[in-house]
Formats: sequence, C-alpha cells, structure tokens
Amino acid sequence: SNDYRVVVFGAGGVGKSSLVLRFVKGTFRESYIPTIEDTYRQVISCDKSICTLQITDTTGSHQFPAMQRLSISKGHAFILVYSITSKQSLEELKPIFEQICQIKGDVESIPIMLVGNKIDETSGREVDTSDGEALSKRWKCAFMETSAKTNHNVKELFQELLNLEKRR
Ligand code: GDP
Ligand code: MG
Repeated sequence: SNDYRVVVFGAGGVGKSSLVLRFVKGTFRESYIPTIEDTYRQVISCDKSICTLQITDTTGSHQFPAMQRLSISKGHAFILVYSITSKQSLEELKPIFEQICQIKGDVESIPIMLVGNKIDETSGREVDTSDGEALSKRWKCAFMETSAKTNHNVKELFQELLNLEKRR
C-alpha cells in the first residue's frame, strides 16, 4: 500500500510539533503549545507514484505507556527528535528506542531517523554533531540535523525517511 505511518517521538520542547507543522503547513511559531497527540496527512511524491504520509505527533516522553506502545505497533517509520541544545533530550530517546526494539523486533529493517533539531541555536549547542552520528551508528539508523525555525533539512528529513522505506 502507499499509505505510510510515521511516528514522531522525543522529549517535550525539542521541536517535534514544529518540524511536523513546518513540513505539513510551512509555518513556524515561537510559542510552545504542548501537544496531546495529533495526526496529519500529507500527500508526497515518491518515485513516479504518490504516497500518503500519516504523521503522528506525540506528546513526548510523558506519553501514556499504553498510547506509546500503540503508536509504535501501528508505525511504519519513526522520527526520534532531540534538541542539540539539550543533552538530556538525547538521553530521553534511549528508552523510546528500546521500546521500539522490543515491540518491532528486527529494528534494522525499520526506517528510523535520529534528528538533532534547533541547529540555528549555535551558541546553545550541548550535543555535538559527532555525538548524534555516533548514537545513530550504534542504533544502525539514519541521522540528520535540522531547524524547524529556519526550515533547514525539514523536507529532506521526510523524503529521506521514504527513501529508507523503499530500500528495505
Ligand atoms: P515539542 O514539544 O517537541 O512538540 O516542541 P515544539 O515544536 O512545541 O517546540 C518547542 C519550542 O521550541 C517552541 O517555542 C518552538 O518555537 C521552539 N523550536 C522548535 N523548533 C525549533 C528550531 O528549530 N529552532 C529554534 N530556535 N526553536 C525551535
Ligand atoms: Mg508538541
């Protein structure tokens, strides 16, 4: 099927909603509005056909455990977001990754993108690019740094996730 479910995880405030809204609506807001859980649909061209991306923007690491398990079971691909301004936010992804492994089994066959967001905040950087890269190697997943604010690598992030899916 050409329907493709992507789930976005990460600590509160790292920019999950901002990345999704930037991609789906082309907008950015400075204010922080905590998310319950929202799903967006976006039609995207891939190869010579079109796909429908169904993007679930989660609340973050304080999601209800049952909801988190359900999102993982239903997801085809995962975006794991931290902020380059917070080492803690990178740490908070580890239990989420472990749960994806538990539920999905063979994670090497599942498209997962580790994303370091807020690269426009150069003076506040706490996580080096090489740290993100190293973790992605350990997890055998893809890696990208983005800015929802300046629209850096946002389209590319979702496009690359689709490319990973096709290479499975
Ligand atoms: P979420 O809790 O992960 O969904 O985070 P939000 O998308 O709500 O963003 C949290 C805060 O970070 C908001 O104030 C956003 O404006 C800000 N933010 C999100 N992405 C970026 C970014 O790429 N750069 C900067 N400087 N701020 C961002
Ligand atoms: Mg949010």
